[in-house]
Amino acid sequence: MAEETSTPVEKKAKRKLPLHWQILIGIALGIIVGIFLTKFVPHDKWSPYIKWAGDMFLNALRMIVIPLVFCSIALGVAGMGESNSLGRIAGKTFAFYIFTTLIAAAIGLTMVNLVKPGVGADLRLSESVTELAGAKVSFIGQIVGIVPSNIFQALTTGNLLSIIFFAIFFGFFINKVNEKYQTTIKDLLESINEVIMKMTFFIIKLAPYGVFAIVANVVGKQAGDTKALLSIAGSLGIFVLVVWGGLILQGGVVLPLLVRILAKVNPWRHISKMSTSILTAFSTCSSTAALPINIRDSQEKCGVSSKIASFTLPLGCTINMNGTALYECVTAIFIAQAYGIDLTLMQQIIIVFTSLLAAIGTAGIPMAGMVMLTIVLNVVGLPLEGIGLVLAVEQLCDMPRTMINSYGDSCGAVIIAKSEGEKLTI
Ligand code: ASP
Repeated sequence: MAEETSTPVEKKAKRKLPLHWQILIGIALGIIVGIFLTKFVPHDKWSPYIKWAGDMFLNALRMIVIPLVFCSIALGVAGMGESNSLGRIAGKTFAFYIFTTLIAAAIGLTMVNLVKPGVGADLRLSESVTELAGAKVSFIGQIVGIVPSNIFQALTTGNLLSIIFFAIFFGFFINKVNEKYQTTIKDLLESINEVIMKMTFFIIKLAPYGVFAIVANVVGKQAGDTKALLSIAGSLGIFVLVVWGGLILQGGVVLPLLVRILAKVNPWRHISKMSTSILTAFSTCSSTAALPINIRDSQEKCGVSSKIASFTLPLGCTINMNGTALYECVTAIFIAQAYGIDLTLMQQIIIVFTSLLAAIGTAGIPMAGMVMLTIVLNVVGLPLEGIGLVLAVEQLCDMPRTMINSYGDSCGAVIIAKSEGEKLTI
């Protein structure tokens, strides 16, 4: 982006601590306050006084996601339709997302087989999972459900995949109507998009406060849960380390390497430019909540065109879940190990592919990956109660996997942008 001359007011604003540092401070203070308060007051007594700020921040982000996704995808697709690039960009985007998700699942598979955290796990620490066991999702049903029978229902229930489908369809047909209508509808969508982006800028400024409240509440809850703390000391701790180790490999080696090779930019600078959305994903456990920030920073800081950012990022947020696929794979095999079930190589390969499908079907909201785990377990006949084993550490696994989910999307955006000849500003 071209450097603009700053007014005195802008110069003053620039001297302020960058937002990602403010968020990091919010996370650190949240951890301290959460632990400290729980030492003196039970978590449920103090949490209502802090939690509301986090809930309002999350609601505000979710409030803008649906209009943002609809307008940006429809506009992006209409833009691609003009240059006949829709098929090509969509093909590259899907290929990149599926490729990286498969790598993530394979990393999970390798690590869990090498470390074997489940062997000898204490099954008595398992929690009851009556709610989750009922949450079976049929795959055919999911695929059919992508085409919404009622778009307003999809909008009100926040069914992103259906909304994306409708937006792609809508955007595609914008270019098929009379020029007069084309201009009107594009102007309208562009105007709404601009307003939503301005709203996004405003809400993001509140991130440090929202993140502080979310983290304080979560940490306070965990700090008061002695059973969870006890179990982390045992094999569950090793399980968490395997998940984190795999995610670090995916997010710290594989994805940066792909950015380096394919987008030809410094991957660490890319991560630093995307740090606000990465930290938001980490602290909110929702890649959907981080989506508006992801779109803004990919465009404003990395130089990805709005056409590509608007298509690749909402799509990625819905179907590209590197962290989730890795988690599904590690957890399914961990559960098999804990129950002393020997899985054949074929069964393990099936777990990799089912993890990919489950990750595609996972919504970008907290704990969704854990619900989808029932599918993976079902396919290879593993006990659903096994989920009870890992419930205590769900938060610890959800935070980093959401971060990698969101970061993986932004890698897709810069790589596809580069492949389309765009000039990145990283
Ligand atoms: N929380 C994750 C996300 O929002 C999904 C999951 O639970 O794996 O991306």
